[in-house]
Amino acid sequence: MRQTADSVCESQTPEIFQDARKRSEAREKDRCILCGSPLELTLGALTDKRFGTLGSYEIHRCVRCGLEQTFPVPSLPELKKLYETQYNFGGETGALYVKIRERFLFSFLYRLWCRLDGDISFHLRCGSGRLLDIGCNEGRGLRIYTRNGFQVQGLDLNETAAVVARKAGFEVHTCLLEEFEPETPYDFAVLSNVLEHSPDPRQMLRDVHRILTRGGQVWISCPNGQGWLRTVFGRSWINWHVPFHTFHFSPKTLRQLLAEAGFAQIQVSQITPALWVAESLITFLFAKEGRKNRQLRNPFLTALLMLIARFVFFPALWLGNRRGRGDCLLAFAAKA
Ligand SMILES: [Zn+2]
Repeated sequence: MRQTADSVCESQTPEIFQDARKRSEAREKDRCILCGSPLELTLGALTDKRFGTLGSYEIHRCVRCGLEQTFPVPSLPELKKLYETQYNFGGETGALYVKIRERFLFSFLYRLWCRLDGDISFHLRCGSGRLLDIGCNEGRGLRIYTRNGFQVQGLDLNETAAVVARKAGFEVHTCLLEEFEPETPYDFAVLSNVLEHSPDPRQMLRDVHRILTRGGQVWISCPNGQGWLRTVFGRSWINWHVPFHTFHFSPKTLRQLLAEAGFAQIQVSQITPALWVAESLITFLFAKEGRKNRQLRNPFLTALLMLIARFVFFPALWLGNRRGRGDCLLAFAAKA
């Protein structure tokens, strides 16, 4: 049965969270995946403020390198179940929000907006060569990267989303990245807001390194765990996104992970997308425990708050980026 936030009684405790609780009790055994040091609790009582799924989560930080992770970490079957019930892969084509977003993304206005606000998904980058969009969903990025000159393929675990992308003419692989053995290596791999969803980002970057040609590039965007929006919004920060965001990176830990996976020429910069400011505000204002936050899909409210964020609060956004506390990390690195 499809289980939505609205259909779940608060007194119910789904099996997946009972399992999660048991693993939380055993968390003392867990160590940092990057340096092996112990973890300490930095924030507790986090709940899913987007979809309203049940469960309470904590953020633990490595005492040595500072890499943060969500606890308890759902297992792969648990995550699969959560994604299938909560994420609308290719299944919301009729929604007004999606229609407006699609029109906007393929308009001149969007390219102008990206120049002002920052290009969170590398949609302005032009070039040539083989590009793999990891976590391509229903193929929106594939269409844009094709238009920009690349020979594109996608990889996504969700078969429903892959079917939509294939119908548009794209080759999409639906195996696990660690099992993916391409016949020809890629020149570019894109992880646009994907790495923070991985239960093992260290292994993910090693696999990306494996499927790239020598000198091939990885492009990463992900939330900045040291961003100022986290401080301002606290538990309402949109990028906690528990339990879906399993790791929370800083510029330093992202660099370390890339270097450890064999990448060189690592560049990390920061932007603060107005969309993320708007979403954190909507979460702060409208999120209710155990209920889906429908205002996050209100196109008019989102657009209004984005415009306010970009044009009224631009000095704060600019200053945050300059001081290393922008909300989004953009990383580029090459296979050594
Ligand atoms: Zn560590």
